[in-house]
Amino acid sequence: MRPTHPETIELQQLREKIDRWACELGFESLGISDGQLTQAESHLLEWLGRDYHGTMAYMSRHGNARTRPHELVPGTIRIISVRMDYRPEDVETSLAGLADLRNGYVARYAVGRDYHRLMRRRLQRLADRITDAIGPFLYRAFTDSAPVMEKPLASNAGLGWIGKHTNLINKSAGSFFFIGELYTDLPLLVDGPVTDHCGECSRCITACPTGAIVAPYQLDARRCISYLTIELKDSIPIELRSLIGNRIFGCDDCQLVCPWNRFSKPTGEPGFALDPQFAAPPLVSLLAWDEDQFSRNTAGTALRRITHQQWLRNVAVALGNGPRDKAAVSALTERLSHPSAMVREHVVWALAQLQGTHSAG
Ligand code: SF4
Repeated sequence: MRPTHPETIELQQLREKIDRWACELGFESLGISDGQLTQAESHLLEWLGRDYHGTMAYMSRHGNARTRPHELVPGTIRIISVRMDYRPEDVETSLAGLADLRNGYVARYAVGRDYHRLMRRRLQRLADRITDAIGPFLYRAFTDSAPVMEKPLASNAGLGWIGKHTNLINKSAGSFFFIGELYTDLPLLVDGPVTDHCGECSRCITACPTGAIVAPYQLDARRCISYLTIELKDSIPIELRSLIGNRIFGCDDCQLVCPWNRFSKPTGEPGFALDPQFAAPPLVSLLAWDEDQFSRNTAGTALRRITHQQWLRNVAVALGNGPRDKAAVSALTERLSHPSAMVREHVVWALAQLQGTHSAG
């Protein structure tokens, strides 16, 4: 048998240590890829060509740096991808929250502390441990914060497959998890991708409230509730408003119906525990938040990605989709004089909607 090259043994030992450190830092799994994203690059170009990115102009910026890691961080030859689970409660509890139209529904990834800083800090600590062991090396940490193809990279590293809803799914952990990366020049051994296990299933396509999954593995972001309630800064297209229901920040429907989420486990990370104010927040109270309250109540959470005006816009739409009761009408009427034309327009729409719904007392 041919002896293993000593360097390979050292790299294997380093990999074992990296796996152990990642686990100690709270990452559920770690995989390594070489950053080759040829297929993902063609998929991205096709997606952009169809304008599925809507107003997310940043998706088409940075030339090829998004799909060619070494162009974003020169010297990169490997990507270390990590996974951290965030589901704060069981799927049934989330579905029950969604079903009560008097309350707003916040996507489960956003009901705890903002993951960006937490993940970045942990990735930095992982890099520090590697530095302590082997000396300085080139790295840069990312978490949903730069032109990085996180899902294809994680898929190539064996953390899961990209499902028909375009999220990453892990066979033993479902899809309620965050991904982060270390771009590095370390010549670590790479992992292989896992196979796709969607099979004949199409539950997410059927369940999407707005029909945003236009074909398997094809998401028209312009219809996606996450895009409409977070990325879109202007008016929400009228034809989509009634389909949004009570989702005021993001949407989990495609994940909640996915059979693989039977295997997702509640997060062990205290920072992702559900903030009680977002467990079942009454929409009428949320519409009454002034800008200071919005800033205070959302400090340190991912909800700060939107402005107070977007918040009022989203809550107004949700109220318009709920039952007509005095409190809803009165809360909306209070906002008819809001200085933002966008807010006022959504409030007027919501009040008109309520005229056509049944009274709930
Ligand atoms: S719901 Fe079905 S088709 Fe959609 S991602 Fe999950 S397994 Fe795949």
